[in-house]
Parts: sequence; C-alpha cells; structure tokens
Amino acid sequence: MHDFAYLRPRSTGEAVQLLAQNQPGARYFAGGTTLFDLMKLGVEAPATVIDITRIEGLRDVDTASRGELRIGALAAMSDVADNAVVQCEFPALSESLWKAASQQLRNMATVGGNLLQRTRCAYFRGGPEFACNKRVPGSGCSAVGGQNRGHAVLGGSEACVAVYPGDWAVALVAFDALVDTVSPRGERTLPVRELHRAPGATPHLETVLAADELIVRIRVPRGAIGRGSTYHKIRDRESYAFALASAAVALELRSNRVADARIALGGVATHPWRAAEAERSLVGQPFTRAAARRAAELAFEGAKPLGHNAFKVALGIETVTDALMLARERS
Ligand code: SF4
Repeated sequence: MHDFAYLRPRSTGEAVQLLAQNQPGARYFAGGTTLFDLMKLGVEAPATVIDITRIEGLRDVDTASRGELRIGALAAMSDVADNAVVQCEFPALSESLWKAASQQLRNMATVGGNLLQRTRCAYFRGGPEFACNKRVPGSGCSAVGGQNRGHAVLGGSEACVAVYPGDWAVALVAFDALVDTVSPRGERTLPVRELHRAPGATPHLETVLAADELIVRIRVPRGAIGRGSTYHKIRDRESYAFALASAAVALELRSNRVADARIALGGVATHPWRAAEAERSLVGQPFTRAAARRAAELAFEGAKPLGHNAFKVALGIETVTDALMLARERS
C-alpha cells in the first residue's frame, strides 16, 4: 500500500470542498470495503483519502414520509437490510442486501458506497500484465478473447464486457429509486437507473457522477408494488459470492391480472439492467407461469453471449421466471 494523506471532514460541505481542493487523486472513503481492497491490488492509488464516516445525519433510514423511504448514504448495508419497514414494504431491497457479501462486510459497507463498487473482472484486478480498457484506457480487453464465464451478455461493447457486480443497485432500479448528491456546485437528484454508464468506448467512466460529487441519500417511492417483490440471486455457492444471474422483480396483481410489473437484472449486464419490454408484456394480462416465462425470454432477447458464458442466458431466464412466480405469491 502506498502513502496517502488522510482527511476527516465533519460536514458534507467540508467534504466536497476538500475533495475539490485535492483533485486530482482524492477519493472519498466510507466503509472502505472496495477502496482499500483496490488500493492493496494497485488498481486505485489515491494521493488523498477523505474519510466521510464522521459526517452527521447520513446514517438514518427515515420512514416518516408516506411518499418515500429516505435512506442516508452512510447507513450500513446490514442496518438497511434489517429495517422492519424495508423488509415489509420492499422485501427485494432487503434481500438484495442480505444476499450480498458477508455479514462482516455488510456491517462495514455503506449503501451509498455499495452503489459505486467496481467490477470483479479478474483482468481488471489482476495487474498491469493484463490489457484492460477500464484500468488503462486504450490498452485493450483481455476478457473478450479470454476467460469470460462471469462476464456480461447484455450491454457490453468491444471495449469492455465486465459485469456490474452489485445487487442493491439492481433492486433500486426496479423501484425507480433516486439518489441525492452534493458537490461544490450544489445539490442534484438523479434516478439510480441513470447513475451507471454502459461501457461503450469509455469503460473507465463507470458513472455519471463528477469526481467531486458525493452521494448523500437514496430515496425509494413507496407503493403497493414493493410488497410483491423478491430478489433472486444465483451464484456458484450460496453465500459470499457474486451473482451469475440475479433478478429483482415485483408484481402488483388485481383479480389475477398484472397491474404493474418490475424486472431488473443483475450478474448478466454491464450496468443494472431494467427489462422494460418484459415488464410491458405482463401488464394487463392474466398472470401464468407461461406468461412469466415469456417475459423472462424477452428480458434476454438482445443477449450476446461470449465464449464461456452462453449458460447465462438460460440461467437468467430461469432466474427471472422463478422470481416472478415467487413475487406472485407475495403480491
Ligand atoms: Fe477490463 Fe472490462 Fe475487459 Fe475486464 S472486461 S478486462 S474490466 S476492459
């Protein structure tokens, strides 16, 4: 690990000013579960680390508003997963957090930082001997012709096919959640759905956030759709593993007809992936297993498998179908 300056602001205003003053080469630190990992691997080498964990008022899960849940960006993953209102009104959100990482990591990692975790592509993390456009723009992509079993079948480009590794963002996208940010230029709000970029020709640019922008809050619109939801995650082992395929789905049924449907995919795409056409195929129709299967197939219609990951299409279709059947039981 290289030497770095360590700063500890007490307010969001102070934090964004410190980050702006120490650019380039400054990074925020919250739970540290991704940043320090990548610093040890030499992928990240910030000259200044700005510890935001002492900032007051960003750890609460505020359920007082009837219109939305307001979740502070510094809330621990385990605290949000365990929150009674989240569990009752949005089981998919709670499950997406509980099925991520390990208990120790969930106690440390924050829900704001979790949105920004970086890919697990082994070439990205493997060191300078591997070509990787995400780590060194223009150097090439070792995964396209290499080991790509865990890589994306949706949203990839010639420059990068790395999977977005998170679960929480996938579930948030299904519920049209928003993030509030602050920067030296003021505050803004954007949908979680627009937070992550597709890799295109610039895979090193992973989000639309400016370098000095800080996520302070996540907001989730409340409504009947959340209760009939689930987060289904298929992986090589049942704990402490990233998704090979996952689905955050929600259904609202009236007289066994689908009034509203949400389907978001993880583990198969370069960014949290909302399957809008699949959702539309369900709305207004009677819900059956055959309809669920058709929607799941639609969700993967544009998939482009690589050499080692064609199985993800079939696995993803089964995952979405099973998730929809479970969501129906809960709705
Ligand atoms: Fe790098 Fe992306 Fe290629 Fe992995 S898939 S080696 S992260 S460019």
